[in-house]
Amino acid sequence: MATYECLVCGMSVNAACGKCGAPLVNASITKDDGTIVQVSECPNGHGKIKSPQCCGQDMICSLK
Ligand SMILES: [Zn+2]
Ligand SMILES: [Zn+2]
Repeated sequence: MATYECLVCGMSVNAACGKCGAPLVNASITKDDGTIVQVSECPNGHGKIKSPQCCGQDMICSLK
């Protein structure tokens, strides 16, 4: 199970695709202005969402 964890306060969430239930995998996209954004992506191609945030920073995916 993919678990996103906040390194500041220790809060964690499990992220999974709403269509197929697969744990979301970590990915990143580069925006037009060159900013790299961390996203969570369905491994089966159902789409991607921005990674959850806590304490003003992206939560880290601890899935190995
Ligand atoms: Zn936090
Ligand atoms: Zn899916």
